[in-house]
Order: sequence, then C-alpha cells, then structure tokens
Amino acid sequence: MTRDEVLDLFRRSGALLDGHFRLTSGLHSPGYLQCALVLSQPDLAERLGRALADRIRAVRATVVLSPAIGGIVIGHEVGRALGVRALFAERQDGRLVLRRGFMLSERDRVLVVEDVLTTGGSTRETMDVAKAAGAQVTGAASIVNRSGGTVKFDVPLESLLDYSLPTYEPEKCPLCAQGLPVVKPGSRQVTA
Ligand SMILES: [Zn+2]
Repeated sequence: MTRDEVLDLFRRSGALLDGHFRLTSGLHSPGYLQCALVLSQPDLAERLGRALADRIRAVRATVVLSPAIGGIVIGHEVGRALGVRALFAERQDGRLVLRRGFMLSERDRVLVVEDVLTTGGSTRETMDVAKAAGAQVTGAASIVNRSGGTVKFDVPLESLLDYSLPTYEPEKCPLCAQGLPVVKPGSRQVTA
C-alpha cells in the first residue's frame, strides 16, 4: 500500500480533513487526523492491518500488544494478518497494565501496534508492559507516524504514513491572520 493510497483511504472516510481547526490542545492546525474514522469501516481497518503486517512481518512477532483505546482495532487487524494473538494494555490508576486474563511469557516476541505515533510515549510505555511481563519486544508499528522521524526505538518501527501537521498558537496562527473561520473538528460537516 503506497502513501498516496493510505492518504486516499483517510480522505475518503473523512479521517483526514484540510482547513483550519482548533485541536483539543487549543492549538490551531491546517489539518485534522482522526484514525478512528477510517478504522470504523471494518474493510478499511482490515486492509490497513494487512498492509502494516506485511511491513513488519520480518520481526517474527508471536503476539501483538496495543495501548487502549486507540490501538485496539488496528492491533486486532495486524494480529489477524500475522495469525497471532492481539492483546491490549489499558490504564488503571494512570498506569498501563494487562488485565482481562491477558498473559505474556518469556517465550513471547511482542509487536507493539498503535494507531498514531506522535511522541512515542505510549508505544514506549506499552513496550515496558511487555518487558515487565518477561516478554521480548521485537518491533513497533503504527498506521500514522506524526513524529517527523524524531522517534526512535531499539527495535524496528514501521508506519504506513509519515505525516506531520504544523500546529500554531492561536495568536500566531497564519490561518487566523488570513481571517479564515476556525472549526472544532466534529462540530459540523467539513468537506476535505
Ligand atoms: Zn487559527
């Protein structure tokens, strides 16, 4: 799957919007990315999972581990494509932990799968969950990498789409300076 094909899937499902947006952080941006919208279509989720699995197959993972909630759907699809279990870690008292009877052992080779990688913080935290359970972390994968290539791990990292969007303080926003109305994503229908 090429970068353009991935971008096209995102645009067609409304998961990638162009315009002038006020993000949850309060910053303004000329684009908005919402992976959950593309993943809400099971056939697209399956295609993305297969494409991601193909890129990271060489690490020979025996299990996928994802951070909840964002990583669950794509982790499941990557697990399906690789023919391995797909587990997720979730927050309890602020820390990521394995619950629900999910088990990892020292024989497990873990692939950490996320929807969007920005700072790499939650991928790193998910790796720590696997290591704490005695398993070996062999790779990481995300649909989108927004880090601009700044995030590195000591295992291979694969993404389908390298995509970093600029963000601006409202008072320094060039789109505001042009007088373009700012939109809160999801507040109304926006055409890409
Ligand atoms: Zn603005």
